[in-house]
Amino acid sequence: MIYLKHEEEIELIRASSMLVSKTLAHVAALLRPGITGIELDQAAEEFIRDHGGLPAFKGLSGFTNTLCLSLNEAVVHGIPGKSEIKAGDVVSVDCGVLMNEFYGDSAYTFIIGEVKEEIVKLVRVTEECLYKGIEQAIAGNRIGDISYAIMYHASKINPYGVVKELVGHGIGRKLHEAPEVPNFGAKGKGPMLKEGMTLAIEPMINLGTAHVKQLSDGWTIVTKDLKVSAHFEHTLAVQKEKAVVLSDHSVIKSAIKNNVELLK
Ligand code: MG
Ligand code: MG
Repeated sequence: MIYLKHEEEIELIRASSMLVSKTLAHVAALLRPGITGIELDQAAEEFIRDHGGLPAFKGLSGFTNTLCLSLNEAVVHGIPGKSEIKAGDVVSVDCGVLMNEFYGDSAYTFIIGEVKEEIVKLVRVTEECLYKGIEQAIAGNRIGDISYAIMYHASKINPYGVVKELVGHGIGRKLHEAPEVPNFGAKGKGPMLKEGMTLAIEPMINLGTAHVKQLSDGWTIVTKDLKVSAHFEHTLAVQKEKAVVLSDHSVIKSAIKNNVELLK
């Protein structure tokens, strides 16, 4: 069942998504070599609760934290830990908020200090993939148009591996609703997009192989070849001409600009 949302419901999803974005900006301001995942996680939880929201991931299927923090070869679902973040790390931060009965979900990949040019490019292309997907999220298109645009940019224009085991999703009164939004697929296939559909589009793109495995912690997904992976995500509403993006990465980019420890 795909739920179409009214204007007022979309505004509530926007509010939750904006709190996610501001939380990610708060994390961006704190990110530096020496900080631990747990410290970032606690800061994020406090920020969300101080602003009237609940951390959406905490308690979901037994996940114990506010953030998914996935470093380097970790693709998604990394558990914030006690080890310190180091210069040269690639840190994907995924966050969800529940507020006023609606969810928001967004992710951003940060580069700490200097890394090889091939990694800078992977992160940039993964972000581009997100917007290629969003361009297709208009009424009358199909889910496959989003999927194809992401896959084409990641693995045809560029040489990267597209993760297939994990996908984007509908979002609203549940964090994960129908339809699934895969990052690979065929144009013109899948459910028809309609005005009022709210989706989380989230390309997960690997420098090397597309294949992934789960670590023994039961959560962290890593690339099989242990090469770096990147992840960007927006929550958005499908409209007639152009999707309305409900999360906002510009607040995160401002925080990056003000943080000397991060690659701009
Ligand atoms: Mg997410
Ligand atoms: Mg998501």
